Amino acid sequence: MEPSPLSRLAELLTEADSVVALTGAGVSTASGIPDYRSPGTGLWATVDPMEVANIGAFRRDPARFWAFYSHRLASLADVEPNPAHYALARLEEMGVLTALVTQNIDRLHRRAGSRVLAEVHGSIDFAVCLSCGARYPHQRMVDGLAAPPGIPTCDCGAPLKPGVVLFGEDLPADEFERALGWMERADLLLVVGTSLQVWPVAGLPGVAAATGARVVILNATPTSYDREAAVVDRSPVEETLPAVVRLLGG
Ligand code: ZN
Repeated sequence: MEPSPLSRLAELLTEADSVVALTGAGVSTASGIPDYRSPGTGLWATVDPMEVANIGAFRRDPARFWAFYSHRLASLADVEPNPAHYALARLEEMGVLTALVTQNIDRLHRRAGSRVLAEVHGSIDFAVCLSCGARYPHQRMVDGLAAPPGIPTCDCGAPLKPGVVLFGEDLPADEFERALGWMERADLLLVVGTSLQVWPVAGLPGVAAATGARVVILNATPTSYDREAAVVDRSPVEETLPAVVRLLGG
C-alpha cells in the first residue's frame, strides 16, 4: 500500500537537514484574505490589481492609488494568523524548518512567530519614500490616511508608498538574495499555498531542485512543478500542516 501523502511528508521532513518553505496567498485564505487570482472576490472584484497596484499608477497619481490601497490596508487590519501560519512557526521552533520565503505582504507569518523569514514581495509592515528613501512604520500610513487629504506623506513632503512590491517594481534585492541562498542549500522545499505563477518567485523551486532538493507541493490547484514533486497534496494547508506537526510530535 502507498503511504499517505501526510506520512510521506513527515518522513521527508525527518530525513532532510535543511527544509525551506515557500508560501503564497493560499496560506492566508483561511485568514479571510482573498487571493486576487480568484476572480470576483472581495476587494479585487471590481478592480484590476495589475492596473491599480502598479508602480506607474502610484507615481502618476498617488491620491488615486491611496484611494484604493487604503481599502486594502483596512481589509488587512483585522485579520489573524490561521493554523497554517502557526504550524510553520512551530516547525521552525522544533528545528524542522530552516527558513521561510513568502510572497505574502500581510505580516501573518511574522505575527504567528516565524523568525527566519524573507518577505520577497515586501510587507505592509512599513512605508517607504521613493523621493528620499526614508522608511516609516505601518502606523504612519494609518495616521496619514486618517487625516486630510488622506495620503500618507514623508517628512520631505513626498507621498509614501506601502512597503509592498507593486506591479512593475523590482523585488527587494536583499530579501530575494537571502531566499536564493536558502533554496541553494535546501534538501527539501515545501511549496505551500502558491500556484507559482509570479516570476521571479516561480523560478525558486527550480533553483532548489537544481541543487538537489526534493520538492513537496501543498496547494489546492496544480503547479508547473507537480510532475517532479516527491509529494503533491491538494487538501487545505490549514489542516495538512498542523497534522504534520502532530505527526512529528510537536
Ligand atoms: Zn521622503
